[in-house]
Amino acid sequence: MTLIEVRYIVKRGLNKTQMRFVKVAVPGPFLAPLDYVIPDTLETGELPVVGGRVCVPFRRKVLVGLVMDISDHSDLAVEKIKPLEAVIDADAVFSDKDMQFLRWASHYYHEPIGQVVQTALPKRLRGGEPLKVKGVAAWQLSASGLLAEKQLVANAPQQRKLWALLQAQTAPVGAHFLKQFFPGNWRLPLKRLQEKNWVSETEMPCVTAFSAREKLPRPGHILHPPQQAAVDAVLASRGFGAFLLEGVTGSGKTEVYLEIIQAVIAKGRQALVLVPEIGLTPQTVRRFEAFLQTPVAVMHSGLNDKERHCAWSAVKHHEVSVLLGTRSALFTPFADLGLCILDEEHDLSFKQQEGFRYSARDCLVRRAHLHQVPVVLGSATPSIETLHNALAGRYQHLRLLERAGTAQMPTIQLLDVRGQRVQAGVSEALQQKISAHLAQGNQVLLFLNRRGYAPVLMCHQCGWQAVCSSCDANMTYHQQINALRCHHCGAQQAAPRRCPDCGSADFEHLGVGTEQLQRWVQTHFPQASFLRIDRDTTRLKGQMQALTEQASHGEADILIGTQMLAKGHHFPKVTLVAMLDIDQGLFSCDFRGAERMAQLVIQVAGRSGRGLSAGEVVIQTHHPEHLLLKVLVESGYPAFAQHALAERQQADLPPFQYQILLRAEALDGQLGWLFLNEIKQALNFAKMAILLPEFDNENRSLTSESSAERRALSVTESSRLAVLGPVSAPMLKRQGRFRYQLLLQGRKRSELHQWLAEVEGWLYQHPLAKKVRWSIDVDPQEMT
Ligand code: ADP
Ligand code: ZN
Ligand code: ZN
Repeated sequence: MTLIEVRYIVKRGLNKTQMRFVKVAVPGPFLAPLDYVIPDTLETGELPVVGGRVCVPFRRKVLVGLVMDISDHSDLAVEKIKPLEAVIDADAVFSDKDMQFLRWASHYYHEPIGQVVQTALPKRLRGGEPLKVKGVAAWQLSASGLLAEKQLVANAPQQRKLWALLQAQTAPVGAHFLKQFFPGNWRLPLKRLQEKNWVSETEMPCVTAFSAREKLPRPGHILHPPQQAAVDAVLASRGFGAFLLEGVTGSGKTEVYLEIIQAVIAKGRQALVLVPEIGLTPQTVRRFEAFLQTPVAVMHSGLNDKERHCAWSAVKHHEVSVLLGTRSALFTPFADLGLCILDEEHDLSFKQQEGFRYSARDCLVRRAHLHQVPVVLGSATPSIETLHNALAGRYQHLRLLERAGTAQMPTIQLLDVRGQRVQAGVSEALQQKISAHLAQGNQVLLFLNRRGYAPVLMCHQCGWQAVCSSCDANMTYHQQINALRCHHCGAQQAAPRRCPDCGSADFEHLGVGTEQLQRWVQTHFPQASFLRIDRDTTRLKGQMQALTEQASHGEADILIGTQMLAKGHHFPKVTLVAMLDIDQGLFSCDFRGAERMAQLVIQVAGRSGRGLSAGEVVIQTHHPEHLLLKVLVESGYPAFAQHALAERQQADLPPFQYQILLRAEALDGQLGWLFLNEIKQALNFAKMAILLPEFDNENRSLTSESSAERRALSVTESSRLAVLGPVSAPMLKRQGRFRYQLLLQGRKRSELHQWLAEVEGWLYQHPLAKKVRWSIDVDPQEMT
C-alpha cells in the first residue's frame, strides 16, 4: 500500500438500511465486475465515481480496480459483500464513451473486463499512482541572462557553451535535452549560471521534456490532386466516417495523414495515430513534429514505465495534441479525441496474439464510432477484410495510384529457378543482376525471411536431424555462435560435433538462412560492403535504428534482411530488390497464406526505386505458373485482392464467415483435447437455443424426454453455426505443451457471439478450465 496515494481511507462501519454498491473490474478471470459496499462513512466528495479507480480487498490482497457501475442493488447476500478499502480517483479516469468502449471490447472479445482494464491502464496507474505526472524542471536564460554575453568570462568555457546552447532555444529545455545536446557535464555550469541569476528555472510537462529536441524546419509539399481529394474527403465527414486510404508505397499517404491531423488540431482537438511496432522510428516522430510544429506524444514497447505514464497523462490532460503509438496506445483516454488514423492497416502486429487478443484496427474503428469522429485506415496492400468493407460501402475508398515526387514504381518480374544452379538461395541469373546494379553504384536488397545459417542440421550418414525436445520443430543452426536454436521456444544448445545416433561428423545443412546468405555475399562480392538486418543483429536497443539509418544513407552496397526490412523504410539508393524464397506462402495451410505472401512481396518491392533511379524487383520461384502469383506480378495488388476475395467467397471463408478460435494446451497430451471436446458438446447443445426460437431453455438436458421429441434442425438452419474440431494445432507440441483448437464459424456475427456467450459462464466453471491453458480468439488471424 505504500506506493498507492490514497485519497480517502475508508472508515469501517456500515449502515445496512441504505447500502450502495460499486461494481469493480479487478484483474483476474472474472466474467463480471465484483461487488463491494460503499461505506456510508464517506462524505459527498469522497465517493467513488464510475470510471475511477478504487482499492478493494480480494482474498488476502488489496487490488486496484476500476468502478464500472454504482448501484443500490446487488445480487449477492449482503453479509458476503466486503466494503471497499479506499477511493483513489475523485474524477473519472475514463469518460463515459471510453467506458462504453472498454465494455464493448470485453463483450466482443469475450475477455474478462478486469483484463481489458489492465491492458488499458499503464503499469503505474494499475499500481494506484496519481493520474497526472508532475512536471519536470526546465531552464532558460533570464532577462539579464540574455544580455550577459559580455560578462561571461573566458576561463569558464563550459558556462559559455551552455549559455550559447540556451540562447539558441526558443523554449525552456529539460535535463533530457541537455544530456543529448550538451557535450559533457551540464549540471555544474548550469548551477553557476543560476547563481548569477542568468538562468531561471520553470516546470514543463514531462512529455515535452522527453521529446524536447532542436527546433525543426517545416517541410512543405504542395499536395497532388489525389492527395488533396483524400484530405478533403476526410475533413468533409461530419461525425463518424471510415476511410480506406489505399495508396501504393511512396504515394504520399503519410503526407495526407499529416494534413488531416493539422486541420484537426488547429481546431483544438486531438489525434490518435497507430502504426506497426516496426514503423515507429525516431525518424517518423521527427517527421511528425517537424510538419506539425508541435510535440508529439509517443507510446511503444520500448518505453519505461515513467515515460509511458508521462505520454498517457499528457494525452489525457490535453498537454499534447497528437499521440503516435503502437497497438496498445489504442486505449489511451483523450481529453478531446477528434481523429483516428491507422497506418499499414493490414499489418499483423495490430492483432494482439496472446492474453487479451484484440485487433487494434477493428477496435479503433469502433472507438471512432463511439466518439463520432473520422477514422482513416491506410495501406498499400489492404487486407481482404478491409477491402470487403470498402466494396460493401461501409468504408469510403480513397486511392493514390502513383508515387509522389519523382520516383517511379519498380517493375516486378518472376525468375524461374527450376533446374537452375542455386547457391545459398541465389540463382546465377540473380547473381548477374546483383553485379550489374552494384556496377552502377546502386544498392541491392536481398530479402530472405529466415534467420540463422540453416533451418535444418542433418547427419549425412544416417539422416538424424536436430529437433527441439520441447517442440515439434527442427532446431535452426546458427553458425556465428555455433549453436542450435529453437525459434519457437527459444531453447539453445551447442551444436553437436558428432551425430548422436551414428557418431559421424559429416553434417549437412538443409535450407538457407540469412547468415548463410551473408557468407555467400562475402565470398562472391568481397569488395562490396554489406549490412545484415534480422532479429539476431538487432537484439540490443538502438541497433535496429543504427542499422536502418546506415542503410538509408546508402552506407552498404548490399542489404540482407528478413521482414524487419520490409516495412516503411526509405532506402533511396536501392534499385534492386530480390526475394529469394517466397514459395512457402503459396502453399500455406492457412487460408490467409497467399494474402500475407502478396502483401510481403509488395511491401518489400516498395523498397526499390524510391530515389532518382528506376527500381527493379526480382522474385525467385519454383512456381512461376501459380495463378495468384501471376496475377500479383502482372496486374498488381488490387487485381490480386479481387481474385483472393472471390476465392474466399467461393470457399465460404472470412470475410464471408465470422470465426472464433478456442485454443487449449496442457503438458498432458490429452487434456486440451478433452476440454475442447466438452466445449463442443455444450456448444452443440446451445445451438438449439439460438436457432430454434421455440426451444425450451429450462429443460435443457440431453437425457430429458423432451429433447428426444424436439424437432431436428434443418440443414440450412444448422449450417448457420458450425463448430469444427477439436483438432491438433499445426504444431502439436510447443514448449512442452500439447495444443489443440476448436473453430466456431457463423454467417451472422451477432449470432456467433451469442452462441459462445451461451456456454461462457459454464466454461469458466469447468473443472478442466483450471488445468489447461485456454483462450478465446475472436476473428483469429493466425491458426498457429
Ligand atoms: P507513403 O506514406 O505512402 O509511403 P510518404 O508520405 O512517405 O508516402 O511519401 C513518399 C515520399 O514522397 C516522401 O519522401 C515524401 O516527402 C514525398 N512526397 C509526398 N507527397 C508529396 C508531394 N505532394 N510532392 C512532393 N513530394 C511528396
Ligand atoms: Zn548420423
Ligand atoms: Zn522449441
